[in-house]
Amino acid sequence: MGAVIFRNALVLTMDDTHTVLPGTDVLIVDERIAEIGVGLTAPEGAQEIDATGGILMPGMVDTHRHMWQTAMRGYGADWTLTQYFVWYYLESGRHFRPEDIHAGNVLAAWEALDAGVTTTVDWSHGLQTTQHADAAADALGAVPGRFVLAYGNIQQGPWEWSAAPEFRDFVSRRITGNDLLGFQMAFDVTGDPTFPEKAAFEVARDLGVPVTTHAGVWGATNDDGIRLMHEHGFMTPQTVYVHAATLAPDSYHRIAATGGSVSVSTESEQSAGQGYPPTWALREHGIPVSLSMDTSVWWSGDLFSAMRTTLGADRSRMHMQAHERNETVTHVHLRAEQVVDWATRGGSRALGLDDRIGSVQTGKKADVVLLKNDASPVMFPILNPYGHVAFQAQRGDVHTVVVNGRIVKQDGRLVGFDAAKVRGDVERTVEHLIAVMGPEAWEKGMNPDVPETKVTDNPYTYTDWDAGSAQ
Ligand SMILES: [Zn+2]
Repeated sequence: MGAVIFRNALVLTMDDTHTVLPGTDVLIVDERIAEIGVGLTAPEGAQEIDATGGILMPGMVDTHRHMWQTAMRGYGADWTLTQYFVWYYLESGRHFRPEDIHAGNVLAAWEALDAGVTTTVDWSHGLQTTQHADAAADALGAVPGRFVLAYGNIQQGPWEWSAAPEFRDFVSRRITGNDLLGFQMAFDVTGDPTFPEKAAFEVARDLGVPVTTHAGVWGATNDDGIRLMHEHGFMTPQTVYVHAATLAPDSYHRIAATGGSVSVSTESEQSAGQGYPPTWALREHGIPVSLSMDTSVWWSGDLFSAMRTTLGADRSRMHMQAHERNETVTHVHLRAEQVVDWATRGGSRALGLDDRIGSVQTGKKADVVLLKNDASPVMFPILNPYGHVAFQAQRGDVHTVVVNGRIVKQDGRLVGFDAAKVRGDVERTVEHLIAVMGPEAWEKGMNPDVPETKVTDNPYTYTDWDAGSAQ
């Protein structure tokens, strides 16, 4: 694989003390970060990348993304969670064939790499058969990123699909300890007092794999699910709770006490309505946080927007609450540095990968991102590097991306991305979905009714313009 050396970077190491190193070289040899320092000697044949004026940081980690849904990118821009459930779960989602899962995953995977997201959890809950699952795994294996396949199937109860022999067979065939493809089980806990999900948790325990679950989702999952998981001993440090936005303090205590973490999808929570983005509550309860994008059926898969909206939501709530008390906030709690940590270390810790990725440190796997764009007026001056990453930089400033020592984006262009092939596959999926749903239903799904907005009576209106023009 050889060696790559970044020269003269501003390095955000994101190590435990958040060391920032100006004017520093980072040497990568094979899969790992070999050396960090000033004026390093590179081995012969090393690829040199001038990082002057740029920020070198760990690759970002998205802990919850329904990658298959990327085939319908942007379709649900004006949806609520209710419309998502109706249209994606009950309508279009049912019609996904294995090749459609493949097309969505490949597109989503490249999209993540393009944005500097080197590890993505594919929260893959459209796996109606193991042929679908094989297609999902094939797609993740075909793109040079690091992925965790979170296996799920919304068309069945988790106690059903997880008990099927072909599921066990899939796990033993496809999950082989490859560092680039991790595994989780993905299902939700409805709060049914008979706790039918118990059987699926037992399978996860038996396989020794973590569970990721949409918890605290308004109108869908609530404190009962958390209580049942806790009472049966299924809340572990590896458990990832997605959203956790509509929960009582008792549930946050149970999550904190058992060492689990929460994947916050701020853009999703704000538009879809799972509940207010809960970073304020998670901070209060000392619960570890990672960030996620949820689905490209609404948003794109870049964590710059996650960092930005998460800071905005946390601060906005604080100001709003203070104003209601006729008070002024003079200092904000949530800092840019913290969301950069959540986008990197937060994810590596949540996934149990922190010994391998999440920071730029000697000996770790080389998953790194160079933000540099000499042509952009937004990329200088870089005075506050954390603030720059969270509020200034964007996908177009991702200059170089390295995953496991391999350059997957260079000089702003993805390496090995066959756009024509990926586009063709996705177009065939879209054609298939329109054909099975019918053009009318397809249009209707994309354009839900707009509720009427009542315009408040305005006491300053005294001129009747319409009456005048009508005469
Ligand atoms: Zn989700």
